[in-house]
Amino acid sequence: MAMRLSRSIVGEAEAKAVSRVLLTDGYLGMGNETRLFEQEIAAFLEVDPAQVVTTNSGTAALHLACDAVREISGKGIEKPEILVPSLTFVASFQAITAAGCVPVACDVLEETGTLDLEDAARRITPNTIALMFVDYASNPWHLDDVYAFAREKGLRVIEDAAHAFGCRHHGRRIGSFGDIVCFSFDGIKNITCGEGGCLVSFDPEATRLAADARLLSVENDTEKRFHGGRSWDADVRRQGWRYHMSNIMAAIGRAQLKRFEKEFMPKRTLRASVYAQRLCKVEGVRLFETDLKDFIVPHIQVVRVLDGRKDMLKEALLKEGIPTGLHYKPNHLHTFFGGGAVSLPAVERLYEEIVTLPLHPALSCQDVEEICGVIKRTLA
Ligand SMILES: *Cc1c(COP(=O)(O)O)cnc(C)c1O
Repeated sequence: MAMRLSRSIVGEAEAKAVSRVLLTDGYLGMGNETRLFEQEIAAFLEVDPAQVVTTNSGTAALHLACDAVREISGKGIEKPEILVPSLTFVASFQAITAAGCVPVACDVLEETGTLDLEDAARRITPNTIALMFVDYASNPWHLDDVYAFAREKGLRVIEDAAHAFGCRHHGRRIGSFGDIVCFSFDGIKNITCGEGGCLVSFDPEATRLAADARLLSVENDTEKRFHGGRSWDADVRRQGWRYHMSNIMAAIGRAQLKRFEKEFMPKRTLRASVYAQRLCKVEGVRLFETDLKDFIVPHIQVVRVLDGRKDMLKEALLKEGIPTGLHYKPNHLHTFFGGGAVSLPAVERLYEEIVTLPLHPALSCQDVEEICGVIKRTLA
């Protein structure tokens, strides 16, 4: 079978869960399964279920987070700004503009690909309301410092933790502390619902806004739906969206969550450690730094290829049937986000160097050895 860069790992358990919804429950929309999934996510993160708001994508969760922060902290500011590292999925940027805010692209640290706080500090204006931190390649690098920085500058924090489900920063699970944390459960993330996501908020006002806004801002509709009813006669006071998670998606997510700690987590960490062992001494390849006090469940395996040899290596890998990816084209280079009007040296250098190698639980450790062998031979 052809080697894949990433893939969904679903089977009998997920199929049974979906059949249960289709054949037994019969209610496909947002109902009991969604309520249970929110409870189980909350138990996993050790937070209150009321803090968890599931959505139909990670992008939707980010949009709702930006919308809530704008509503709470952006009053009287015509174009509220949100600081965001340029090295992220375009979803982070699109979520910010969707909420009527301006994404202010920041540079990243070359050794980790995560937000460079010194660069971010220089980009703060009176219109800055928040910063978005991205756990790039699942790395919650210096997240405590990020929160300290935000507190000092009076900024809200939205974590794009799409890569970081199951990770820990200095012992604490990502999503168990902070301000507003967003996860993605799209097909290839650490767990999947098919498509889906969730937001975990530590500000009750933001949670309420997000929970309502995912159901067209029909007030308290979540509670009604979770008990088999609807808010037929409720008031609507602000913009909302159809962003809720269906019972079908939640059923898949519940099956995935049960498999996470025994199966997905150890498989992902083992494959990443084989990559690290085999590549750490290869000349011309550099791995991103991590903090030994953090626990990383890697969603993607990114390496830096130095000396302008990235394209050559990608071709050599492809010849051996090994696909590679790019995470990501820096967002400040996209036409919609300024087309390179600012220059961000570290992220632009990384853009020349980064290659994503295959990583998913169905990849064998033998496959990883083989990939590393091709890299060694090609760069020797
Ligand atoms: C996957 C991802 C998202 C968006 O999540 P979707 O569920 O695909 O909408 C946002 N940010 C990052 C960094 C991602 O990898």
